[in-house]
Amino acid sequence: MSLLRVQDLTKRFGGLVAVNDVSFDVEAGEILSIIGPNGAGKSTLFKLIASFLKPTAGRVLLEGEEISGLKPHIVARKGVVRTFQETTVFKEMTALENVVVAHHLRLKAGLLGVYFASPRARADEASFRASASEILDYLGLGHVKHERARNLPHGYLRALGIAVAMAAEPRVLLLDEPFAGMNPEEKDRAVRMVRGIRDRGITVLLVEHDMPSVMRISDRIVVISFGTKIAEGTPEAVRNDPAVIEAYLGA
Ligand code: ADP
Ligand code: MG
Repeated sequence: MSLLRVQDLTKRFGGLVAVNDVSFDVEAGEILSIIGPNGAGKSTLFKLIASFLKPTAGRVLLEGEEISGLKPHIVARKGVVRTFQETTVFKEMTALENVVVAHHLRLKAGLLGVYFASPRARADEASFRASASEILDYLGLGHVKHERARNLPHGYLRALGIAVAMAAEPRVLLLDEPFAGMNPEEKDRAVRMVRGIRDRGITVLLVEHDMPSVMRISDRIVVISFGTKIAEGTPEAVRNDPAVIEAYLGA
């Protein structure tokens, strides 16, 4: 059984069909990229998978269990976690504090009020800091742990957004344009980071515009154009697919 199954997903916004009957499977441990021209429906597809949007038709299954229609935080607790196209971190907090807070928010959704006053909370605080620190080290952000987010260069800020998502202990991590706005050096680091995440056993689904990075990093690629899947396969196969070339050249 596939880890994640996208089945006949359709999303309409009024008269616009943003996602049109899209199906594909995501296998455990792979890096699968969704590519397509601007406005193709990639971000909408992500929001449907993470249950930030309700599909007009179709469904999403996690290990055979339907997750579409559940609240996003429930889906996140089941292990399907997304980052945002725009980075969302607390600018006045340090990198470490941001990841610690993300741990708290994850627990709070389940345990609520009394939790924070308890001895258990204080014990967890120490373990949160340790694991947050470990995530930052792992993602190559160890040396900026105590920097305020607002002082971090763009590439680091994007990486911090991923560290925050990692605090939710995802099984499937959805990254929306992780390489956007990065210089070549930042991209290299981010590509290594995403591979490192996969090497930890986390399945990675990413939407990306940057072709060279996508070709380097992906095990498989799904191509969408005007909401419809037009190709699926290895980077090599997709690169040479006439339908894909046409969609990209706008021919
Ligand atoms: P991509 O991420 O591939 O650039 P999107 O998924 O953001 O594309 O958008 C796909 C299409 O759906 C676009 O035409 C966009 O304008 C439209 N769209 C996205 N979100 C909404 C919304 N909330 N309401 C109306 N139209 C939307
Ligand atoms: Mg988008």
